[in-house]
Amino acid sequence: MDKILVSACLLGEKLRYDGTGQRLTHKVITKWQQEQRLVSICPEVAGGLPVPRAPAEIVNQQVITQQALNVTYEFTRGADVALALCQLHNIRYALLKESSPSCGSSTVYDGSFSGQKIRGAGITTQLLMANGIEVFSEKTIKQLILKISELTT
Ligand code: SF4
Repeated sequence: MDKILVSACLLGEKLRYDGTGQRLTHKVITKWQQEQRLVSICPEVAGGLPVPRAPAEIVNQQVITQQALNVTYEFTRGADVALALCQLHNIRYALLKESSPSCGSSTVYDGSFSGQKIRGAGITTQLLMANGIEVFSEKTIKQLILKISELTT
């Protein structure tokens, strides 16, 4: 049975930079949990960052906090842990939180800390995609559901 890598915050874990979660309520999540398909990770915590932590955005492929601290190393380390988990479980699909500097897949914040988003992907998503893993978000979950249902029919 195909497993799916999922952002821990989408499962309600309070690991976001501000100490909150962002639970995605969808009946398929419950089903996938019961099927033990979900492998959860928070790449930023896996990379060594605390909760809460300073908000960070991508600037020229570096990840910088609002206080101008460069946290690219931690973000990259978290991405490596996520990829290793995928390889361990033969994971081909991921469901990651949109717009995060780690987990975003269609948009990220533009680096100005002004709330503006641009097209782009987070550091973990970039690495997973470069390794052939398809990344979906809470906004594209219907496409992922379709993929998984095609695999099981
Ligand atoms: Fe959620 Fe990803 Fe941010 Fe962790 S790094 S809190 S999993 S969006």
